Amino acid sequence: MIPTIGIGLVLTISGLVVFYRTVTRGGTKYYLTNFRLVETNKGKIVRQISRSIFKGRTISQFLQISEVPMFKSNVEMFTVKVLDPQSGNVLMNLGTNQGPSVKALESIQESFYCQYCGRKNNPSSAVCSNCGANL
Ligand SMILES: [Zn+2]
Repeated sequence: MIPTIGIGLVLTISGLVVFYRTVTRGGTKYYLTNFRLVETNKGKIVRQISRSIFKGRTISQFLQISEVPMFKSNVEMFTVKVLDPQSGNVLMNLGTNQGPSVKALESIQESFYCQYCGRKNNPSSAVCSNCGANL
């Protein structure tokens, strides 16, 4: 099955979601929100990973990406697994994904959002640049 990608607003997953991309496989959808990577099945949250565990990590520590050889379409496809950066265990197997979804996942450790005021902060910051809360 070819995954579909959507961009829009999701308010049911978390109160402060401003951005997401989805990959749909059967009844399973994956959302990248400002705080979490969320796996849902038929509208219910199955699993969620806090973005904070990826803070300060390099992409290869938490993403296992391999290119799928193209046969029919000329769309670049990749298989993606999300790893626990500490143990190396697979947390989510995202299956086959298109390039833009992979790019979104690779940006997961580039910015962090304050859980109090929602301000986007640099991953190297210890406190929020807007309200001073610990990140
Ligand atoms: Zn803040």
